[in-house]
Amino acid sequence: MSEEKFSVIDFRNRLERAQSYGEIWDVVKASVEFALNTRRQGMMLFLDTLPIHVGAYHPVGTNNIVLNRQLVQIVEATIKSKRVVNALIYNLLLHEYLHALGQFSELRVRRMAYEVSKKCFGEEHIATEIAKKSPWVLLKGIPLENVDPPQRVIEIIKDFEKTDRYIV
Ligand SMILES: [Zn+2]
Repeated sequence: MSEEKFSVIDFRNRLERAQSYGEIWDVVKASVEFALNTRRQGMMLFLDTLPIHVGAYHPVGTNNIVLNRQLVQIVEATIKSKRVVNALIYNLLLHEYLHALGQFSELRVRRMAYEVSKKCFGEEHIATEIAKKSPWVLLKGIPLENVDPPQRVIEIIKDFEKTDRYIV
């Protein structure tokens, strides 16, 4: 078994077993470092209710990623697979992390997210499939008109990035 093959299994296991946003974030950072040899410290994660077609965003010039809480909740409630939900969250965070690393082109970020996912999880893994198509493939057939009205409370995820919690 080649080193690369071992990494694919390792990344898959880590993502599938992740129990928190912080653990998925660790996989995002490790996969980008493995595939692109680059990293950025000190990111913070917020959950908010965004329009359903917005998965997440990174306000340029900040260390913040804002994730669409409602989108994650809908996928959790309808698909009921931790593997798929984790792959979705991975994809949304990876996309914003690539922006935070200085990529502003949407097309290029999508292409890079696909390349990173393919290299770390393999072509046929759900994380790579989501990167190749789009997170919205998961919402196909879900009646979004029944979605509850947005809760307007923004929430910070504590312990998102453990390594430099005390560095401002
Ligand atoms: Zn983007």
